[in-house]
Amino acid sequence: MPRRFTGDRLVLASHNPGKVREIDELLRPFAVAVASVGELGLPEPDETGATFVANAELKALAAAQGARLPALADDSGLVVPALGGAPGVVSARWAGPNKDFLVAMRRVEAELAAVEGADRSAHFVCAMSLAWPDGHVETFEGFVYGRLVFPPRGERGFGYDPIFLADGRDITFGEMDPAEKHRISHRADAFRQLVAACFG
Ligand code: IMP
Repeated sequence: MPRRFTGDRLVLASHNPGKVREIDELLRPFAVAVASVGELGLPEPDETGATFVANAELKALAAAQGARLPALADDSGLVVPALGGAPGVVSARWAGPNKDFLVAMRRVEAELAAVEGADRSAHFVCAMSLAWPDGHVETFEGFVYGRLVFPPRGERGFGYDPIFLADGRDITFGEMDPAEKHRISHRADAFRQLVAACFG
């Protein structure tokens, strides 16, 4: 049985303002006061895990133990099976120090071009972890499947959105209304599972 969240305060273990805003919005119906690790002055641990789950858990546990409150973290990225799963857990790093995702998307295109007959299937993954100060952690993984298109299309969203076409859609996440993306995204999938298990 998953442990239920019964408190009224929660820490968001992210220094990324976009993610904090998105998760804050997702939590709005649940009447919990939310503070981010940035607001609490807590440091960001190194993401040393080899998997999305390991990284989400280490971020949530560090925040829960630092703040002595339950903490929620997510770790996400783009997985391209034809590239052996790359960029995967290092999705953010492919954008380089300037966080330039045009660079990252060009690299995906170039690496796929170098693979004979490469399949353009891809999926986004989001691992979401809720950790308690005693070290207990509950983790849920969400997915959205699709394929990659080049050149990038659309100015909305972030990261790899302009090259990702979800199954059954004919516009990229970069062209899609954000509310529609949030209905089908990997983050929404993980969050729905978390809510059903821990907030129900
Ligand atoms: P994290 O902060 O280590 O979890 O890095 C997540 C990275 O994965 C982001 O910087 C993006 O590059 C990529 N990513 C995760 N979710 C999405 C998404 O919904 N759209 C586009 N890119 C995403």
